[in-house]
Amino acid sequence: MKADPAVQRRLLELADADAELSRIEHRRRTLPELTEIEAAEVSVRTKRDAQVAIQTSLTDLNREVKRQEREIDAVRAREDRDRGLLADGTVSPKQLTDLEHELATLQRRQTTLEDDLLELMERREAVELDGQHAGIELAKAEEALTDAAKRRDEALADLDTAQARREAERTKLLPGIPEPLFQLYDRVRANKGIGASLLRARRCGACRIELDRSAISRIAASPADEVVTCEECGAILVRTAESGL
Ligand SMILES: [Zn+2]
Repeated sequence: MKADPAVQRRLLELADADAELSRIEHRRRTLPELTEIEAAEVSVRTKRDAQVAIQTSLTDLNREVKRQEREIDAVRAREDRDRGLLADGTVSPKQLTDLEHELATLQRRQTTLEDDLLELMERREAVELDGQHAGIELAKAEEALTDAAKRRDEALADLDTAQARREAERTKLLPGIPEPLFQLYDRVRANKGIGASLLRARRCGACRIELDRSAISRIAASPADEVVTCEECGAILVRTAESGL
């Protein structure tokens, strides 16, 4: 294939733009913010679950406290009724003994219930504190997630800008490259990653391999408008004064 040396040199600019576009694409997929966001999402989920668990035990404790209070109220009502009957003075001596016995039992029961209630309330207080702590932790995790997402979006916006600039450069280069040469470039790039590179100091810029004497003399003997490729990697080798021929 033949192409004017100036046209061949345009391939180097095209290769630069394509290499930069590949770097942008790679960077887009490997932004550190992406792993940071994944970790932050796990953290938020874990902390939200913890908060839900605390909320559930708080609801259970509240229910238990209410039940305990109702039971205490019932015992007190029964005590009041017994005291009322005693104060009435109309009960028989047998009923009197029974009532006094029942009152003593009720009072013991009330004490036990009140002790249990106190313990329940202490537990509830501790769980409420856990809940406050969990709320703060969750807010912190959510903030970290928002922050990481914001930084990711900023990084992506920068990459979009860089990509648009490189694509515009590339579009401007294309009309200056004949179709068959571009197709050769594009095919090599699709297979090897780099379509064209500078032959510098006898070394292929794409695969970095130093060309042997026979390859160098073959290239040196080729007319300047002959398109030559690297025997190792297939990249189009663009010759300039730096090529060491
Ligand atoms: Zn090569």
